[in-house]
Amino acid sequence: MEYISTRGQVAPIGFIDAILMGLADDGGLLVPQHIPQLSADMLKSWQRLSYQELALEIFTLFVNDEIPCADLKRLVDDSYATFRDEDVTPVRRINNGLHVLELFHGPTFAFKDVALQFLGNLYQYVSGKTNSIIHILGATSGDTGASAIEGVRGKAGIRICILHPHGKVSKVQELQMTTVDDANVLNLAVDGTFDDCQRIIKELFADVDFKHRYHLRAINSINIARILAQTVYYFYAYFQLANKGQADKVNFSVPTGNFGDIFAGYLALKMGLPINKLILATNENNILERFVREGVYEPGEFRGTYSPSMDIQVASNFERYLYYLYGEDSAAVTRLMGQFKADGRIAIPADKLAAVQADFAAYGVQNEECLDAISDYHAKYDYLLDPHTACGVAATDKLADDGEVTIALSTAHPAKFDEAIRLRGIAQTYPPQIEALFDKPQHQTVVGGTNDDIKDQLVKFF
Ligand SMILES: *Cc1c(COP(=O)(O)O)cnc(C)c1O
Repeated sequence: MEYISTRGQVAPIGFIDAILMGLADDGGLLVPQHIPQLSADMLKSWQRLSYQELALEIFTLFVNDEIPCADLKRLVDDSYATFRDEDVTPVRRINNGLHVLELFHGPTFAFKDVALQFLGNLYQYVSGKTNSIIHILGATSGDTGASAIEGVRGKAGIRICILHPHGKVSKVQELQMTTVDDANVLNLAVDGTFDDCQRIIKELFADVDFKHRYHLRAINSINIARILAQTVYYFYAYFQLANKGQADKVNFSVPTGNFGDIFAGYLALKMGLPINKLILATNENNILERFVREGVYEPGEFRGTYSPSMDIQVASNFERYLYYLYGEDSAAVTRLMGQFKADGRIAIPADKLAAVQADFAAYGVQNEECLDAISDYHAKYDYLLDPHTACGVAATDKLADDGEVTIALSTAHPAKFDEAIRLRGIAQTYPPQIEALFDKPQHQTVVGGTNDDIKDQLVKFF
């Protein structure tokens, strides 16, 4: 399989070059040159595979022979050996219409582990094969940083530096990042906001000389390897229900921020998985809800919510979807993204909006509705939702029709967001792995928020 850019100005490249490139050199996003189509027979033959076996089948379609099968198998097995549940991503039945796909059984109790455990191993493999050093630089508002650090800590050939806004991530998230004491990890606590951190990263990556001299690589959710890893659990969850005769077509409900996770679901749909509709759940930052309902993509005013990992105005993976909506027409995508840059909005015509609404339904969950869903499902089903998952479940309650079966993706363990859950008087006990973090020493360097402050630290570290 080769990869091309949504803007059409990058010559086709292989899988490994695609994961190393991150953002495409022409400013677009990398996509596979074609999407593999699965026959009903092929789907049937996958139905009883373990998570790891299924992941291997799916990655093989997208990697081809660039990584030998035995190596790919080892990468997959190593990546999911760190998960605490033997099913990796188990499905829990809540009632006849609703099942929860628990994606939080990895090392940092957030769904990002599913992709970043794999990407970490992949980077280590590539570093070994090409005998080159990989320096990862990223910014986080919480979950990505912890998960990326866990993905590469102690690994040969890789160093990672993560910027987070000092004192502005949740306590558990801060501890998950800063209690790691491996020599290849540097945590910079930046005097500023998450936006400051992101701007610094963007500018350092744009400094081509600096980027090449220090072999900088990205770990953000536009990396195609992350999308592919997330596609696996849509298939796996569907098979769990289909095997029990509980559904032959399902909805998936996805708490959405940067459109990465739900794009993985869209990819599964395009490959032939029998998905009825993708329910796109946002919080009060509802640019994507407005796009699905009205066909207008335009950032609104930033709102702080109980689901901070979804507090996003411009969704970095959205361009991938536009590319398919416009029939893989890179000229159209280039024009639309140019328009977005100039006018700050994109409006699509009625026929395109109809195509969007054939696959997606969307709902923006208000802060109180999110907490209501946590209280209601706790009282009624004795099941504790984290605030991100609660948005997905609340959207399902609004948008799933009678008789439909919905699998709601659970993107974080409730212990990570205890502050919100306590507002409804619900007490939880932390898993022992999280409890243990509170006794460990922290390693972080507090730095000023200028590019030079960060560069000085990087030059010392790399
Ligand atoms: C990152 C994240 C999301 C949003 O996922 P996207 O791929 O950015 O849409 C939702 N929930 C949690 C807990 C997350 O960490």
